Amino acid sequence: MSYYSEPISKLIHEFSKLPGIGNKSAQRLAMHVLKMNSEDVKNLADAIVEAKEKVINCSTCFNITSNDPCSICSDIRRDQGTICIVQEANDIIAIEKTKEYHGLYHVLQGAISPMEGIGPNEIRIRELILRLQKEDVQEVILATNPNIEGEATAMYISKLIKPSGIKVTRIAHGIPIGGNLEYTDEVTLSKAIEGRHEI
Ligand SMILES: [Zn+2]
Repeated sequence: MSYYSEPISKLIHEFSKLPGIGNKSAQRLAMHVLKMNSEDVKNLADAIVEAKEKVINCSTCFNITSNDPCSICSDIRRDQGTICIVQEANDIIAIEKTKEYHGLYHVLQGAISPMEGIGPNEIRIRELILRLQKEDVQEVILATNPNIEGEATAMYISKLIKPSGIKVTRIAHGIPIGGNLEYTDEVTLSKAIEGRHEI
């Protein structure tokens, strides 16, 4: 039984579905929204709906974008012969911030996780292989997260690509084991890309 009236309970419930938002935080956010002026509330709601409507996945690299192909795929100044494999689109932002990498990307939209029933067919590996067959790629950099799922995914992709003769590298450690690319500071991530090794 909730102490809040129905519209407030509903708002709290929706906020609590967001990542990292517990019930306390959801309550605080809901209370904050009630204190905001109507125009700001409308702008917030519109921004959420608009982002969801207009943001799509790049059909080449699966980065999130409002144009297809995305700005990275369509930038001819970038090194077309190198593809960096990441788990999530947010990882691209983390790597771009280092200004150390100038190649292309491929977003897997997840990692292999037998525990969660996620196999190679559930992530964008098939699309990657098709890309490698079409494009002239010299190096694939595996920048999946340094945890069990990320390592298993890197190993799987490496074994799949190796026979084609394309150089396969893995970003160096230094990123804490069990860590997440997205939350790694720029200097550490920059060093990890620089220190990548062939696998
Ligand atoms: Zn793209």
